[in-house]
Amino acid sequence: SPLRLSGQVALVTGASSGIGEATARALDAEGAAVVLVARRQQRLEALAESIRREGGQAAVVVADLADLAQARDAVMQAIGLFGRLDILVNNAGVMLLGPVADADPGDWQRMMELNVLALMHCTQAAVQAMGGQGRGHIVNISSVSGRGAGPTSAGYSASKWAVGGFSEGLRQEVRLLGIRVTVIEPGVVATELTEHITHSATKESYEGRIAQMTPLEPEDIAAAVVYATTQPPRVNVNEILIRPLDQG
Ligand code: NDP
Repeated sequence: SPLRLSGQVALVTGASSGIGEATARALDAEGAAVVLVARRQQRLEALAESIRREGGQAAVVVADLADLAQARDAVMQAIGLFGRLDILVNNAGVMLLGPVADADPGDWQRMMELNVLALMHCTQAAVQAMGGQGRGHIVNISSVSGRGAGPTSAGYSASKWAVGGFSEGLRQEVRLLGIRVTVIEPGVVATELTEHITHSATKESYEGRIAQMTPLEPEDIAAAVVYATTQPPRVNVNEILIRPLDQG
């Protein structure tokens, strides 16, 4: 059977590890040309090389997306490289958990810049190009923390709640241009995400919680991205919430 995304170009932000890396591999396996965006060039080059070795098409764009000019430019470069953009997976993000009273406000700044503003800027650049094509798909990686909040998640939840609000307004606008919008909300996934938590007591207790469960694997989320992006054009998969069985 023909690959379901052959001829399509997909950009994945945060493709150097975790969910982004697995998603890039999964979209490649369906025949898409993939543009890999993040800061760690070596990790991206290694992934691109492994995709090309198997006969796929991959390009690397090194960018610090928290710099919003770089975020926009990464999308423009992808379009320049392959001549079009069919799928944008806004995946790059940080989860800097911590209690509000004791949090480093710099953590909030980083989460709002990357999780929210970079996603908005990449999306704007993408929909401008996709509108001209009459086709496109924006996939935003939110979180269960985009639907619920608890102690130490206030700042992170604020950023992921913003992703949900932005995505819903966007969906209603761009469907008229042939562009689909999907929000994916993972529960706990085994990735490098927790390594960047700066509040040490929170980091310890969160990692302790994960150690007692079987978390999702990045491939489980990549499969949801493939599901949404391989539906017939009439199908707009708006939202997918996925928790590990062990997560309450
Ligand atoms: P990882 O830490 O493994 O991946 C994060 C990715 O984002 C990396 O590729 C990193 O690349 C990239 N990134 C971070 N900062 C920047 C930046 N300034 N500019 C460009 N790229 C950046 O974690 P996950 O794979 O888990 O996270 C991916 C997404 O999934 C995030 O949005 C996260 O909130 C979400 N999520 C994760 C869950 C989990 O439990 N793991 C649960 C729910 C949602 P580099 O450092 O090379 O720049």
